[in-house]
Amino acid sequence: MKAIAIAGAGFAGAVMARELAESGKYRVTVFDERDHVAGNCHTVRDVATGVMLHQYGPHIFHTSREDVWQYVNRFARFGPYTNRVKAVTRRGVFSLPLNLLTLNQFFGKQMNPTEAQEFVSRLGDPSIREPRNFEEQALKMMGRELYATFFYGYTKKQWGVEPTELPASILQRLPMRFNYDDNYYNSKYQGIPVDGYTDLVERILDHRNIRVRLNERFAPELKREFAHVFFSGPMDSFFEYRLGRLQYRTLVFERFEDKGDYQGNSVINYCDEDVPFTRISEHKHFAPWEQHEGTVCFREYSKLMAPGDLPYYPVRLAEDKALLKQYVALARGAKRVSFIGRLGTYRYLDMHVVIGETLDLARECLPRDPLRQGWPAFSADPSPVATPARSAA
Ligand SMILES: Cc1cc2nc3c(=O)[nH]c(=O)nc-3n(C[C@H](O)[C@H](O)[C@H](O)COP(=O)(O)OP(=O)(O)OC[C@H]3O[C@@H](n4cnc5c(N)ncnc54)[C@H](O)[C@@H]3O)c2cc1C
Repeated sequence: MKAIAIAGAGFAGAVMARELAESGKYRVTVFDERDHVAGNCHTVRDVATGVMLHQYGPHIFHTSREDVWQYVNRFARFGPYTNRVKAVTRRGVFSLPLNLLTLNQFFGKQMNPTEAQEFVSRLGDPSIREPRNFEEQALKMMGRELYATFFYGYTKKQWGVEPTELPASILQRLPMRFNYDDNYYNSKYQGIPVDGYTDLVERILDHRNIRVRLNERFAPELKREFAHVFFSGPMDSFFEYRLGRLQYRTLVFERFEDKGDYQGNSVINYCDEDVPFTRISEHKHFAPWEQHEGTVCFREYSKLMAPGDLPYYPVRLAEDKALLKQYVALARGAKRVSFIGRLGTYRYLDMHVVIGETLDLARECLPRDPLRQGWPAFSADPSPVATPARSAA
């Protein structure tokens, strides 16, 4: 059996390890520099309250891919959960994503779907033909009042720049619903593993051909000990940042506790610019099938990543894209290494996308002899403009 190394025990690394191990042709060593598996999806039970905490921010699993849903259900039992987010603004508390209830309450009306659609189209700024940035896209779509209340402050806090500096494409993806559906996701399946994501990933990694080495950073020189490496850490870190650093936004979580129910919902966004945090999440509500007397919440602050911070959201503004292009060229020229997952491809990706792309890569390559023919440099092309998530309401 050939020896394969995987850097990172998040979903990308774990799924790839499992596929390789199950083929029976490879012995896999998975390295992670943290003291736990599951990467940013890590969950841990809080000692004080018993609440299952999502340590690196709230994670809701959703997908419309049948095979991905079946895959995760092989390793975990999912509890039913529907993400319904609320927004605190200076005009009151509203339902997100913007939907018919939001519009009727915000404007004090009783519109039906057709009336609301016509109403919103009249709010849009018709002088903007080809929106050049996020702000122009918003003004064209919904006019200044909705934009200023729900999008301007939140987006500026999340990205640390004026929305005029962000691409229009970010907003094009955000839904505005002309019905009363306030489910944040359109996916066919949605839920949260009842024993947490870490338990799920531990089960994926539980195979006789997989060895996990925690608290160990995979350094590029280790490559010579393995026939191939799958790297799910930051692409630029593999090359020791020799061309410079790709920028990320990072998050700071401020924990606080209370009794009972602090905010009555799992996630509430704070849209005003003068509130310094972007949202508060109350983690017991991610497991509505559990009962806890105490409660744990986190205020979430966004800032530009400095060395030593954890990378969360790729920035992907013009200068990052230029640097990314150079790293992509380096990666394509490197031998016996494939870059996978969100950090390896410098894209914001939801969990189901990471799992789906990793399964696709394995299923496409494993039936042939990939070590002879070569694995692709990337699980998916990092070049196209990927739109960051959570850009606004
Ligand atoms: C705040 C936030 C909220 C999110 N919410 C959702 C959500 O609700 N739903 C959803 O579907 N997705 C969500 N996501 C996305 C989700 O976190 C990612 O899809 C998922 O973590 C990607 O898995 P990954 O394996 O690619 O990366 P990661 O989970 O980041 O794993 C990479 C691992 O590599 C390790 N590593 C890095 N470099 C090295 C090295 N040199 N050697 C050894 N180990 C290394 C790291 O320690 C890490 O454990 C959210 C993301 C964020 C930031």
